[in-house]
Amino acid sequence: MTQRAIPYYWSSVDWPRFMADYPPPPTFAGAMAALSDEQLHELQDKRFRDRVREAWAVPFYRDRWTAAGLEPGDIRELDDIAKIPAFTSDDLKRSIEDEPPFGSHQNFALEAMATPLKIQSSGGTSGLPRPTLFDPVAWEAQAIQFARAFHAQGAQVGDVLQITLTNSLANTAWCSSTAAMNWCGLVPLTTGSGVVTPSKRQLELAREWGTAGWVAFGEYLKILAETAVREGIDLARDLRTRFIHTYLGVDVEGHLRKLLSAAWGCEIFDNYGTHEVGLIGFECEAHDNLHVNDDTAVLEITDRESGAPAGTGEPGNLIVTSLHRSVPPIIRYDLKDLMRVSGRRMCGCGLRTSKLSGFLGRSDEMVKLKATSVYPRSAQDVIQGDARTTGEFLCVVETVGEGLASRERMRVRIEKRAGVQDPRLEADMAKMLHTAFGVSVDVEIVPPDSLAPLTGLGGEGKVKRLLDLR
Ligand SMILES: [Zn+2]
Repeated sequence: MTQRAIPYYWSSVDWPRFMADYPPPPTFAGAMAALSDEQLHELQDKRFRDRVREAWAVPFYRDRWTAAGLEPGDIRELDDIAKIPAFTSDDLKRSIEDEPPFGSHQNFALEAMATPLKIQSSGGTSGLPRPTLFDPVAWEAQAIQFARAFHAQGAQVGDVLQITLTNSLANTAWCSSTAAMNWCGLVPLTTGSGVVTPSKRQLELAREWGTAGWVAFGEYLKILAETAVREGIDLARDLRTRFIHTYLGVDVEGHLRKLLSAAWGCEIFDNYGTHEVGLIGFECEAHDNLHVNDDTAVLEITDRESGAPAGTGEPGNLIVTSLHRSVPPIIRYDLKDLMRVSGRRMCGCGLRTSKLSGFLGRSDEMVKLKATSVYPRSAQDVIQGDARTTGEFLCVVETVGEGLASRERMRVRIEKRAGVQDPRLEADMAKMLHTAFGVSVDVEIVPPDSLAPLTGLGGEGKVKRLLDLR
């Protein structure tokens, strides 16, 4: 049998060209500032046209676009983007079911193996997770997105970056460690989650090896802070943490940020990203919304009901088009995440980009209660803000009654802090959640640490806040 040629990683990309196309720090800020709005639009337009051309060769896109009455000549420029039908993760799921194991949206061939490839995956609460392939360009461009974030968040060459997500199927940990080592001179310390390296050991390593920055989910930072108290470690005094790169979830009022900042004695930086297109937005030291990696993604916000473009500054579904990803292209992916986007402007930190709000909720987790749209994750603000709770909660939705008399009911199970015996807690929470949701919900106060098996807290993935029993 003839062996096929090995596609060596180091020779698969024109690296100087790649670095000019997707500038890593510290040149990123200057490169973006040097572009006028017209020049950035031109750059995005050029990359968009390249990605659209590639997408026409992918059955998933060709079939969907043709069914929508489009022909290749109809999408001439970025300004035509809204003509293209958006897709959701359900469409990807169907594409995989129809053409297992990778789906009709992929455009690589393992038989040809023309470039090095890596399989990562996302989601998959039922059945197999959705696979996404990475070629070296997608892999390194997504690492550069993270490197820009670390740099804007105060990382300095030689800093130890402790990454408390596991290098496994999901790619946040991989992006972080690749960014640290390849693109910003940090020393990645890949401890993985608490499942891989126990929380006490995580803190001991940080103390002994001088961790300067952390990559961790907000919920896990709370667990580490509680472990520190138990073990007699003073986070602010015994550790040398300067910055924390995290994902705060819905934290409009900033309760979780304040809590973490007080516990760790350092600045907290929120970020937003998604598996297929990488880190879309990152916070800088000015803490003024999130910077968008404009050269790697085009963002649109659409009305969550009608799908029409939302007004400037209005919250709606985030639709993203990747500008760097060819294997496979990602064009108008409706992420069902509620966000706000604002235009390009100069930030106090010296970066000139579009800005993205923090995460506002999941529109596919929306529950209709008495004709009111309720987003379970928006309970986070209220619950994190009350010191009588651990901040942990789970919204349980079920149908009660039969036939015409049936209705949907939501019960919010909230953990109280150990030792709290306040008989008013339940009523107080019900009142505050009524205000937050605009409709009354049932509240059930439960013991500390009792929800983790249902929310997945402390595990590998994102924490679940909705249990749908309908
Ligand atoms: Zn900034």
